[in-house]
Amino acid sequence: MGVEIKPFGVSCNLQCRYCYQNPMRDQKTTRPSYDLEKIKQAIQASGRDFTLFGGEPLLMPHEDLVDLLQWGYQKYGGSSIQTNGVLITSAHLDLFDQYNVEVGISLDGPGELNDLRWHRNRTQTRNSTQAVEHVIQQLCQRGRPPGLIVTLHRLNAVSEQLPCMNAWFQSLDKLGIRAARLHLLEVENESIRRQYALSQQENVTVLLNFAQLETQLTQLRFDVFSEMKRLLMGRDEQSSCVWNACDPYNTAAVYGIEGNGQSSNCGRTNKQGIDYLKAEDNGYERYLMLYHTPQEHGGCQGCRFFLMCKGQCPGTAIDGDWRNRTEYCGVWKQLFEELEQQLVKEGQTPLTQLPLRPLIEQQMVQAWKQQRTESIHRLLAWLTQEDQPTLPDPALYKNVGLPQVCRMSFVDRAMQSTWEPRLQSIRRALTLSSMALVGIWSSAVFTWVHAHDYFELYQRCAEQDLYLQEYPNLSPWIQTAAPKHHLGVIADSETHAALAGAIRNASSHAIHFLLNSTEPSSTATESVLTEPEHWYFNEAFSPLGASLFPRGLTIESEARKPYAELRIEALIQSGFEVEKIWLETLLTSSLQFSALHGIAEVHTPFFKCSYPTMYTKVKHQWGHVSV
Ligand code: SF4
Ligand code: SF4
Repeated sequence: MGVEIKPFGVSCNLQCRYCYQNPMRDQKTTRPSYDLEKIKQAIQASGRDFTLFGGEPLLMPHEDLVDLLQWGYQKYGGSSIQTNGVLITSAHLDLFDQYNVEVGISLDGPGELNDLRWHRNRTQTRNSTQAVEHVIQQLCQRGRPPGLIVTLHRLNAVSEQLPCMNAWFQSLDKLGIRAARLHLLEVENESIRRQYALSQQENVTVLLNFAQLETQLTQLRFDVFSEMKRLLMGRDEQSSCVWNACDPYNTAAVYGIEGNGQSSNCGRTNKQGIDYLKAEDNGYERYLMLYHTPQEHGGCQGCRFFLMCKGQCPGTAIDGDWRNRTEYCGVWKQLFEELEQQLVKEGQTPLTQLPLRPLIEQQMVQAWKQQRTESIHRLLAWLTQEDQPTLPDPALYKNVGLPQVCRMSFVDRAMQSTWEPRLQSIRRALTLSSMALVGIWSSAVFTWVHAHDYFELYQRCAEQDLYLQEYPNLSPWIQTAAPKHHLGVIADSETHAALAGAIRNASSHAIHFLLNSTEPSSTATESVLTEPEHWYFNEAFSPLGASLFPRGLTIESEARKPYAELRIEALIQSGFEVEKIWLETLLTSSLQFSALHGIAEVHTPFFKCSYPTMYTKVKHQWGHVSV
């Protein structure tokens, strides 16, 4: 994977009607500036070669472009550029030759078929399309045929247009073009869907038409068909990102670098107009939940193509929510079925017909639970080796087992450097001050202790003749875990002995009496799913340790306010006034909470985060974020 450099962010000279970057453009009214040195440093730090991307990368002043491409040539032997091609001049063509630049051009067809790539007015749009077609010819004549990206929509891919598109691809084939990537329209709103999107059947028809056309072309290939066929045969070594369990918090296939050197994700995941920083780790919660979620709820449960497709690109998810499968499920499923039949006719046995498929799925799911991914071909080789591997009990896979982690992505570096340390301080303050509740709120105080704070709390407790003890076996009573935290109880030695006895005897009543909590009823929903009436009760950040209520503690509704007041009092008494203000700032800030398929997501003006919650088949949401 290379990195995508976006010197001017999403700024563009065209106004394509359907562009997936329009939500980002709507948020940014001025063209961002860039710092060439910071960009180079970020490329070097990534250790990868780069593609100039945008928006439109050729908006860059020529001398800076020369500087960057020359640097890329000296460092990596070349680079790439993805452009709409309108601004390409003969000086650019010389540069591409001189510095070995691979060119990718986005064009949806000849003449009026490209009209959605709008350039000020109709005349200018047609002139620009013609200019780009000329550039493609010139690049081919120079022995540097560009790769094409062609988006399919109502202006170029309904049945009346197909003869024209077929003739166009035939002429491109003769010209020397070798690769064209077909994109289904990424629909950002209902107006775009109404005006430009193809129906499911139209998408299938046009794709099958191009699959047929490909067999008549000499060298031009639409990579999607061969890729899907290879996937069906378990060969996913070189498959593209959309089939590879892409994490929307850290898109592995796209490492964006903004003009200020900041990292960003693939723009297709950006539905709020914010280029969030990449999350620290990779996560596969989307795929775990899609595997277990019934298809009628937006998941992929039971689909025989799941190993290959995995719910496809999160950027095309139903309702723009990455927790759903792709809205193009019907298209991909029909295409997989078609290609599956072709393979059978050719005498091959696709993976979908192998008894081994469920086993491979289970191993893949197991890897995701461990926050890593696997490739089909490696698992296939492993499961068919001579010494049959010993496999875990299949019952294990029935447990969804979403990793208990809270994943974060900051709005930008400034927010990260402000809020990361603040969150740590809030968490520490709440943990350390919880000991002030012993004997006031309850005889034994239950708290989630982050590994970083454990020793300090232990010492402070000892100074006051209290004990901090871990109680992993409290889990049947405190059902919701807090990511990366230990479940600890602070009390005197006598109360600890009473608690240990109560746990031994499974005496739910005694445990809740000691903790001054109530037993959650079997029908109780997580309190975070509904909008809190007061900021005291905002538990949206409890997995980050930033909540007045420890995750999983159930308190009688009339006792919640006194409990919250005690917690605030304890913060102040323990010398954490500043942390109390930061906590109040966070809990009173605008936020949007949503939960779907067992994954909660919270958007704030500072960051977004996601974590496991109770399974819901439909989306629960509350709040509104203003950034
Ligand atoms: S969001 Fe979609 S297009 Fe972007 S990297 Fe992920 S799978 Fe690829
Ligand atoms: S074809 Fe549809 S149901 Fe099957 S894995 Fe893909 S998105 Fe999910």
